[in-house]
Amino acid sequence: MKALTIQSLGLQVIGVMLVQEKVVSPEIDKWFKLPWDGFVVHYHEIGLKGGKRRPFTRALFRNLQRALSQFGAEVHELFDRLLVKVEGDRLADALLSAAKVFGVAYTTPVRLLQRSVEAMINAAIQTYTALAYDKETFAVRVRRVDKSFPLTSHELERMVGQQVVAATGAPVNLNAPDILLSFRVYQDCVYQVGPKIQGVGGLPVGATGKVLALISGGIDSPVASWLMMKRGCFVDFVHFHAFPSNDEAVAEKVPKLIERLIVPQGVTCRLFLVPYHTFQLALLTTKVPPKLELVLFRRFMVKVANRIAKEHGHKAIVTGDNLSQVASQTLENLSVLDNASDLPILRPLLTYDKQEIIALARQIGTYDLSIQPYKDCCSLITRHPETKAKLHEVLKAESTLPIEQLISRSLSEMAVITIGDQSVEGLSRAEIKPCSNHSTGSNRSRF
Ligand code: ATP
Ligand code: MG
Repeated sequence: MKALTIQSLGLQVIGVMLVQEKVVSPEIDKWFKLPWDGFVVHYHEIGLKGGKRRPFTRALFRNLQRALSQFGAEVHELFDRLLVKVEGDRLADALLSAAKVFGVAYTTPVRLLQRSVEAMINAAIQTYTALAYDKETFAVRVRRVDKSFPLTSHELERMVGQQVVAATGAPVNLNAPDILLSFRVYQDCVYQVGPKIQGVGGLPVGATGKVLALISGGIDSPVASWLMMKRGCFVDFVHFHAFPSNDEAVAEKVPKLIERLIVPQGVTCRLFLVPYHTFQLALLTTKVPPKLELVLFRRFMVKVANRIAKEHGHKAIVTGDNLSQVASQTLENLSVLDNASDLPILRPLLTYDKQEIIALARQIGTYDLSIQPYKDCCSLITRHPETKAKLHEVLKAESTLPIEQLISRSLSEMAVITIGDQSVEGLSRAEIKPCSNHSTGSNRSRF
């Protein structure tokens, strides 16, 4: 799969896809092979936050540091940007990873030069020679951040350009060059600047608050969680499963899906695992109208999620609901779900087409796991659910269930794992922690 596409080398903007694999086209690989010292990270939207900017830049700094630690990279503040120093042979991988971190608008490789015209001329000739196949056109652009440099930007551009022509015979094209040779003059050094590698944008995870996402293992809920992370939310997850024990659920796909969402962001998160059998048994032994079972189950999930969220400081619940995608997600049914929640329920996918969701899931890298078969609890419930649930009928049916007891019992059977510190493949039983403090009844742990 192609990870990078050149939109225009002349404009020096390169789009980066969000896929896991990193395959780089030969043209871009040539840029990456130049002797860079690292790269600069630019952020757009954070820049708009004025005086409130600090928590955002701090979150971005921290997330980049963690996401790039595997490359031995060091993150530094550089005026209103971040500078990442990394060894040359790890630059491409580090830079492509940084481009996936939320909050990054774009990155540019940089090379530290002496503050002299000669250093700029040498770097320009070397770069053109390394990149050109056959007399490609070029232009030199210089920006003086430090205006005290004795030559103007324009004079520097002309001097450097003339020397490139003299050394290589390359044709100049100032409007649409094939190869752009860029420099920035600072007080104590000059930076040579490479092409822009577009980042994913958004806001750094952790900058805007903490939410709890209901994750099913299907296609939608991982994408919904990813979108909340893109708006800077720190996301923890709760999953209701049909396995007899939590360690079976840990070995399945949900932890792996979450790992794919959070590892690129340089954060860790918690996954709360709640066995579903207690509620299922209650449905079997109590006579509720079969067509209301699904909406009752979904209210139950929302209520349990509210308890967890209140204890752990989450400000909202997130679901992958999508208007009228399936029977349970009509406006009527969604409002019956809202009634079960004290916290706001956020539904970032509400208006998306399924094809749009699938396209995003592919880009994020969750699609292949999401479509793998899974023991889904919703499939245990009637095939003909109510599409226009009426609140009073649902409340009446719910009142026949010992709902508080079912919530307490399910919470006492819940376990939690931390994802992002180590590969979920390597999780041992000791790392699957029971959450017995939620229990109001039996403290029985399943481990
Ligand atoms: P998804 O919506 O994630 O593709 P799905 O289509 O199987 O999965 P739906 O039946 O559409 O799930 O449920 C709507 C939403 O309810 C999900 O997006 C998810 O947020 C939540 N949900 C459903 N099943 C579960 C579950 N077993 N555990 C936690 N949340 C769930
Ligand atoms: Mg769905």
